[in-house]
Amino acid sequence: MIKIGILGGGQLGRMMFQETIGLDLDIQFLDDNRHFPVGRIAHQFTEGDFTNYDDVMAFAQKVDILSIEIEKVNLDALFELEKQGKKIHPNPRALEIIQDKAIQKQFYKDHHLPTSDFIVLKDKADVLEALDAGSISYPFVQKARKDGYDGKGVAVIRGQMDHDKLLDTPCLVEPCVDIEKELAVIACKNERGDIVSYEVVEMVFDPEANLVKYLFSPAEVKVAYAQKCRSIAEELIQKFDISGLLAVEFFLDTSGNILINEVAPRPHNSGHHTLDAAICSQFENHIRAIANLPLGSTKQYKMGAMVNVLGEDGFQGYTIYIGMEDILKMEDVHIHMYGKAITKPKRKMGHINILGDNRKEIEEKIAIIDQYFKVIA
Ligand code: ADP
Repeated sequence: MIKIGILGGGQLGRMMFQETIGLDLDIQFLDDNRHFPVGRIAHQFTEGDFTNYDDVMAFAQKVDILSIEIEKVNLDALFELEKQGKKIHPNPRALEIIQDKAIQKQFYKDHHLPTSDFIVLKDKADVLEALDAGSISYPFVQKARKDGYDGKGVAVIRGQMDHDKLLDTPCLVEPCVDIEKELAVIACKNERGDIVSYEVVEMVFDPEANLVKYLFSPAEVKVAYAQKCRSIAEELIQKFDISGLLAVEFFLDTSGNILINEVAPRPHNSGHHTLDAAICSQFENHIRAIANLPLGSTKQYKMGAMVNVLGEDGFQGYTIYIGMEDILKMEDVHIHMYGKAITKPKRKMGHINILGDNRKEIEEKIAIIDQYFKVIA
């Protein structure tokens, strides 16, 4: 039986595990702590640090195929393992490019793929100098080259009043895009070269809080835009030569341009609805792809939405769910909690998938979920 090893034991690994049970594959995980989301359910779990060379090398000896659920893994170990003939998905070169946002952006430019202009700068002082010299101007977005996630490592600078938000780290600076919609596509490729992609997803923002309220799929955009996003995502997964998943985030700007924002070579938040809305989920397709099996259909049964369940503000401690009964009474609403023992304000504790025949029905269900379901301590 093929043995699969995953670096990381968070919720993405947990959902991979859940979707692999039916295929009866041998899958194991490496992460710091058994109490993380996967460790609590997977019996094959190695405690160790996926950023540490020796830990990754030792873990890899137990498996035939190595994959990830987080980008921040030890690259030197992956390059060495690849030399030794181990199968690594995504390949370490792609991961190296993606780990650094500046190199990632340059990759799009080199391949004539649409993305906003950018310049690479050393630190905060360098940004201020570039402002003085006129090589950048307000409003702009500064992004840390490495280790940003969920908006951490991104600063929107509209003028001098935002200077206290400037990041003092190697970074890139790009002009503020006039965003009409934020879109995402997940593409999937196996080693034999079959490629599929999921429907385009749109992020729906709460205009008052300026936070993502839910993700909706298929996105309500012109067919031509959706086709363009899917074809760019499929082209990109080939260019990176990734086996597994590649999630591509796009901006559709107010002039109708599609720009690549960034990618992630693993399961992604923008594909969580596929657990219930699509014939084959992103997690199952990731496993199929890295094991070089035929890929599953990405067709969606119905319109789908996904809301992240975040720890309620003002609560920290042992997780308590309230309102679950109200949600369980609803048709075509599916709860996916990640098994995190401790909740903190705004921590991602789970997500809820909502299916429906039209957007109105879905929004009504979301309003009920918002009102009743909470994670407190
Ligand atoms: P992260 O890796 O933290 O997800 P992103 O690059 O996706 O970082 O940026 C986070 C958010 O910041 C985006 O979803 C978008 O709303 C906003 N943003 C990023 N780049 C730009 C830009 N060039 N113009 C306008 N908004 C941007």
